[in-house]
Amino acid sequence: MKNMKKLVILFLSLFLGMNSVFAYNLILPKEKKTVTTNQYAFFVGKAQNTEIITINDKRIFTASNGAFAHSVKLKDGKNRVVVRSNYSTQIYNFYKTPSSIEKSPLKEFEQRRVVVNKDRAPLRELPQNKGMNRISHLFKGTNLLINGQQGEFYRVFLSKNKIAWIAVKDVDEPEKNEDYTIPTFITMKSDTFKNASVHTIEFTGKLPYTIDETDKEIIFKVYNPEYSDNSVYTVNIRKPEKYVYRTLLSNGTYIFKVNELLLPEGATLDGITVVIDPGHGGFESGAIGCLGDKEKDIALKIGLELQDRLRLMGANTIMTRECDGHVSLDDRIEIAQKNCPQIFVSIHLNSIPDINMNVRKNRGSSVYYYNPNSKELAKDVQKSLLKELSTRNEGVREGSFKVLRRSEYLSILVEAAYMTNPVDSVIYRKENFAYNTARAIAEGIYNYLICDDNKTK
Ligand SMILES: [Zn+2]
Repeated sequence: MKNMKKLVILFLSLFLGMNSVFAYNLILPKEKKTVTTNQYAFFVGKAQNTEIITINDKRIFTASNGAFAHSVKLKDGKNRVVVRSNYSTQIYNFYKTPSSIEKSPLKEFEQRRVVVNKDRAPLRELPQNKGMNRISHLFKGTNLLINGQQGEFYRVFLSKNKIAWIAVKDVDEPEKNEDYTIPTFITMKSDTFKNASVHTIEFTGKLPYTIDETDKEIIFKVYNPEYSDNSVYTVNIRKPEKYVYRTLLSNGTYIFKVNELLLPEGATLDGITVVIDPGHGGFESGAIGCLGDKEKDIALKIGLELQDRLRLMGANTIMTRECDGHVSLDDRIEIAQKNCPQIFVSIHLNSIPDINMNVRKNRGSSVYYYNPNSKELAKDVQKSLLKELSTRNEGVREGSFKVLRRSEYLSILVEAAYMTNPVDSVIYRKENFAYNTARAIAEGIYNYLICDDNKTK
């Protein structure tokens, strides 16, 4: 009897053991029980050879390498999701709590002055910390007039026709006993050089500014609402075809410099510096693919290949990381700034956000830019990515990523493919994927800088 029991246990453990050998493996969700505010539960994993996966009785598409991904709409409260195959059944529970999107009310108050307490404090279009929502980055010491508060933001009065928002934490009340007089205008001038223009506006104190771009112009404005509620100083600057720019403020003097991007003279990238930024690294894996691949590893491979390609083309290259270590976003930006590149390329692979995922549609390559001066470069790189990789065209997009916000060099962020899409997982697992992606990015850069005349727009 005792032996019998042992035998049963042996068989049972063998059976269970086989079960785990042959059954699917889920990368997401990480836990069997999840409390979430997401609209969808996301299932990502790898099926074994002959395995047919169903999620809540719906049969799931599996790519040739076993990769699958699927989203399940969650209702408020308890949700039970059954993942089943011929070998294994697993149950996942989700508790969806309503997301707190209640808008805080606007509290208006009498206009008063505050002072920006750090450099690059974002002045925003809307009282929220998301989206393409920055009008400019203000300098420490800038005097602002505020007259309302909504949530974590103060409403800033710039002129009769223009308000903006700034985070409460980015400003301080003025020092008591501060010797303050309302800034006044001193002078303004523009100088044009062969490949640059420099525009200076001088005030007796630090005032807020905004930057706008149209097809032909960069419009730089400084506001002095305390002096007169409609006191706006505007500089319209002709936009070169390829350009970079920077804004400086010392005391009350703004210097706005626009530089035409100097292109290589020959047919090589000689004289061009490119900073290559493989995303994530170290403890920060980035997205995890259906088969367990890590975004940080693929991004690094692409980055190192890109370095080779660009060097062969004559460019000078700088890597923000060359091995699997953690580098903060600020450090990446600092590395770029120190090396005065013409171009900054960040390399990533995408993941699917909280949406009703469509395996055939939510996949492919995209290139992001933030400042309009980088849009054409993004287009050229996207064009050659699609040609080289035969991925789906996810488009050239605006994105407010921290590493893209500098304007003194062109910067783009490449999402080569989707880590969490099964169809894309077949593509990014191909042996030549990193090489081909790198070649595409290098070609896109080359086409942008050199082959301009042959371009079909
Ligand atoms: Zn990433």
